[in-house]
Amino acid sequence: MSAHLDFVQKNAKYVETFDKGDLPVPPQKKLLIVTCMDARIDCYKSLGLELGEAHVVRNAGGSARDALRSILISQRLLGTREVAVFHHTNCGMQSFTAPQLREIVKSDAQSRPENEKEYIGKSVDGMEFYEFSDLEKSVKQDVQFLKDNLLVLDEAKITGWIYDTANGEVKQVV
Ligand SMILES: [Zn+2]
Repeated sequence: MSAHLDFVQKNAKYVETFDKGDLPVPPQKKLLIVTCMDARIDCYKSLGLELGEAHVVRNAGGSARDALRSILISQRLLGTREVAVFHHTNCGMQSFTAPQLREIVKSDAQSRPENEKEYIGKSVDGMEFYEFSDLEKSVKQDVQFLKDNLLVLDEAKITGWIYDTANGEVKQVV
């Protein structure tokens, strides 16, 4: 039951018709998308994007803060000038609080040696998870974070969106 065991066989089929081997590195639409790692979201199909057109940074929740390092590299080294932040309905980030998650991690570590427990506890206490309860507010906050952040280019166009996992629809929030 390991998903990776299918990789080589499935990839051989993909390679048969692959014809995008000569795309330039910089995204053609000068666009970067931040979106959730949620397995139900296909941001290429849902937004009509083709390979080579956009950077896509995915993480838990589609957090702009978590994506900052990639946004900086994308803008300064690969020429993107537009950021679109997507959060989505029914997101796992609305189902927990950081203190709860920290407790789960610490409790999983209970049988470990003292020094390892200490490392795990300190690490998880110092980690931000960027969970949220109000979906629309979370999008607005992320967009504002990028607009206010001095590492993000002033000329970058920044928009915020909600993707509906129930019907595949996107809606612009800001
Ligand atoms: Zn999500």
